[in-house]
Amino acid sequence: MLSTTQKVTGERIHVNTLCENIHEERTVLLGTIVYHIVLSHQEDRLANDVGPRYDRSQMVASFCCPRCGGRHFTRKGKRHRFYTSVLGKTRLPIVQVQCSVCGCRFCPYKDQIGLAFTDRISPTLKRRQLALTCQISYNKARTFIESCLGVSSSGLTIRKEIDKEAEEIRQMPVTAKDEIVCHDSTKVKAGSKERGVSIHLAVTSKPGTKRNRRKRFLFLRTGSAEQIKESLKVLKAKGIVHDGDMDLSGCAPLLQRCLWHLVHQLKHFLWQDNLPFEQRAPYVKELIGILHRTPKVKQMKKKYRSFIRKLKVNGLIQSCIHLRNAEPEIATFKEHGIEGYTTSPVEREMREINRRVDIGVRWSVPGVENLLLVKMHMAMNDP
Ligand SMILES: [Zn+2]
Repeated sequence: MLSTTQKVTGERIHVNTLCENIHEERTVLLGTIVYHIVLSHQEDRLANDVGPRYDRSQMVASFCCPRCGGRHFTRKGKRHRFYTSVLGKTRLPIVQVQCSVCGCRFCPYKDQIGLAFTDRISPTLKRRQLALTCQISYNKARTFIESCLGVSSSGLTIRKEIDKEAEEIRQMPVTAKDEIVCHDSTKVKAGSKERGVSIHLAVTSKPGTKRNRRKRFLFLRTGSAEQIKESLKVLKAKGIVHDGDMDLSGCAPLLQRCLWHLVHQLKHFLWQDNLPFEQRAPYVKELIGILHRTPKVKQMKKKYRSFIRKLKVNGLIQSCIHLRNAEPEIATFKEHGIEGYTTSPVEREMREINRRVDIGVRWSVPGVENLLLVKMHMAMNDP
């Protein structure tokens, strides 16, 4: 504090240097202010509970002795706690009293003012660390926090915070009763398998502002098809819009295949059927026409079936099977008036997942799952 004051009162000042100096020493400067506020607050309370200083009249306190339950105390100085917050690491006082009956010493206000033994890092600082780590690598987050907030923490500490937060999110009850759920998955480079693992994400999406749809996070997880289906069933959704990679029958009363995926996947199956590249476009175009430019459901389904027959006649068997499997789920949105026939709300989040995860490392499966779980939850439910 002194050095800054000296710099400030020098003959010449430059505001930039001044600001820099104050910023650099803010932990000491602001820490002093916080110290005095915290101390005077406790002293005011102590005056009401114990009586004025040097006064021998015995007052009945609002708290009682943890050992004997007595209500009469005398002041016994103060202790100090280190507290790490957005202001940096500061040393704060907690006043102490002694029980007049049993002699037990304790700090009566520490829990109420947020300085309990377990409260060493401020919740705001933890949130900021988490938010930053969701965006950039652990090490970069650590460097940023150190330079912006003057608080040093290790990548490992942040990692532990992520794991803890992820576990809390998992314990939260989640339901999507009578809602339409979007489900999709993406591969991330994690675990021992060459192609990595699939991250499954489920959200609900409602119209919000013009550009921004209001999304609600439901779950993000890795796991077997059976486990994913179980997670979807628990939601008790009215319907699920999905990409067709898994058979989701039984997971919700209504199922709708994502029409964008259906077309996109057809290109892949036409390639598997050995159809030359230049001959694939007309098929794709025809399917788009059937799915998007046929207003009546009956007519749409009729055209769709004759398209499947055409594929079969032309020997495009993989493509034929692909479309035939999807047939019961192509027009649910029209038949039941549900909103949305693509997984696009979740697709946007998938790109965000890939951006954070593709940083040239191979992740551990729990590591990547926990980080992405916190990230998605923060982005949608806790922005
Ligand atoms: Zn006592």
